[in-house]
Amino acid sequence: MTKNGILCQVNDKRVYLDPKNTDASAINFVSHAHSDHLPSKNGGTILTSIETNEIAGLRGFRMENHIQNIDDFSLIDSGHILGAKGLLFDDIFYTGDICTRNRGFLKGAEIPKCKILITESTFGLPEFIFPRIEDILKQVNELISTLYGKGIPVILMGYQLGKAQTITQLFNHWGPLYFHDSVRQMNLIHQKFGVPLTDGIGHTEAQKNGLLDKKPWIMISPMMSSRSIFLQEMKSKYGAVTIGFSGWAQSTKFSFGRKADYSFPLSDHCDFNELVDIVQKSGAEQVYTIHGFVKEFAEHLRKLGINAQPLHENSLDNFT
Ligand SMILES: [Zn+2]
Ligand SMILES: [Zn+2]
Repeated sequence: MTKNGILCQVNDKRVYLDPKNTDASAINFVSHAHSDHLPSKNGGTILTSIETNEIAGLRGFRMENHIQNIDDFSLIDSGHILGAKGLLFDDIFYTGDICTRNRGFLKGAEIPKCKILITESTFGLPEFIFPRIEDILKQVNELISTLYGKGIPVILMGYQLGKAQTITQLFNHWGPLYFHDSVRQMNLIHQKFGVPLTDGIGHTEAQKNGLLDKKPWIMISPMMSSRSIFLQEMKSKYGAVTIGFSGWAQSTKFSFGRKADYSFPLSDHCDFNELVDIVQKSGAEQVYTIHGFVKEFAEHLRKLGINAQPLHENSLDNFT
């Protein structure tokens, strides 16, 4: 572990995993385009997927010298968001952010065999065991149905990159369907890569044309505070109710998972059981944990007889 992130030295190659800044003398692997994984400066060779490169560009980070392939390095779909990859090289597997369950267009990750596993542990506490997607869908559809029956518009909120596209796909049978402008822009990039997302009108245009006055309707928006100007307006003008989607909604302790009027646990990360499953499927002899409950999850693995240590001490430094 270095100040710049995780550095692996294999034979004559130096490999940085999601470094803060890219290193000119190393291979710099960027797992996906969430901002906490994007380097802040260019330099050296960046190994990343085409999708990650494109989304990073939209988010204001242009990657120079990016490549999709290097001999002896395999990019493995991590099922987290569009273009998210893990990296397998020389018996080491780095998960990046990972999810092994199917959600809409995202297929759960397949775990390769390795000797050393570097895994995220965002939800590495036993309290984070998420319900089945089918059960969440049933509950949310019933809730929307009740609200629609009263003519109440509904705003579905999730992280702008990843969650918002999943909920677009999972709830596209409701209409009329509108999008916060920032979500629509992100959806368009997904459509460009062949993800079948229903298109709809952005909120500025819908408002300008008086479409939001015809209630009820449904809108997909980024996760926002109820104090944001956008939500205050949607609530006061149209009486909209918010439904938020986040893995943190599962917890009784972490209130940032419940910013909305209603909250449901839907995550782009593995839950606790799925994390344990990854470790077992990998057959790794040594496990290093990063992100989230690093100490607690490593300790749990040691109780199962698996050699595991956190790579760094910070908890909760990262949850996208
Ligand atoms: Zn992420
Ligand atoms: Zn992350």
